[in-house]
Amino acid sequence: MSADITGRISSFQTLGTLDGPGVRFVVFLQGCPLRCVCCHNPETWDKNGGTLYTAEQVLDRVLRYKAYFGEKGGITLSGGEPLLQPEFTAEVFKLCRQNGINTCLDTSGCVTEVNNVLDYTDYCLLDIKYSTDDYYKKYVGCGIDGPLMFLKRLDEKGIPTRVRQVIIPGLNDTAEDMKKLKSAVSKYYCVEEIELLPFRKLCISKYEKAGIDFLFKDTPEASQSLIDNLKNYL
Ligand code: SF4
Repeated sequence: MSADITGRISSFQTLGTLDGPGVRFVVFLQGCPLRCVCCHNPETWDKNGGTLYTAEQVLDRVLRYKAYFGEKGGITLSGGEPLLQPEFTAEVFKLCRQNGINTCLDTSGCVTEVNNVLDYTDYCLLDIKYSTDDYYKKYVGCGIDGPLMFLKRLDEKGIPTRVRQVIIPGLNDTAEDMKKLKSAVSKYYCVEEIELLPFRKLCISKYEKAGIDFLFKDTPEASQSLIDNLKNYL
């Protein structure tokens, strides 16, 4: 029964505009198997942290904001990695769909056992963090095959997808990097858009508080003009 299905949640954001189409109720799930060097949410890493909620409790919260969603908005499950709790993610999405709320999955695509989550997913934000396996292994903690296989699954399911990449000066900020990214993802019909996000260091205080070294602390932030320029190659 859905009332029995619980998940660990780090936090909620009530009216977000950056995490999927339209206005969204964003749920940051607790737990991530990866350790991206540029992660903005290290507080979500520990899979035993956060607070337990039932899927029904999440639905109750989302319903309070339904009037703001308009045609495109809805719920986004983010993290952490929502696919680390696939049963809970599927149940929340199922309940939302039953209540006419659009469902968006924000994922790294590195988890293969995803239960039936994709049967209830209307839209996907998929991180393709770098275009080489080397960088994935060095700066993410998995290979590039997982996310690309996940993209193939999204394509087979016909789930509209926005591919996202954080641009980090010195790592993935050249025209050549953009061409590689484009060639890796553009063959999939499900990809509606490639979004480039500037590397920022607002998260440094979270690392300091947690006593974790932020390896990119000396890397400059990415400027908007760099992002605009790189978009020309997509
Ligand atoms: S996948 Fe997301 S939450 Fe997990 S470490 Fe990477 S950026 Fe952080």
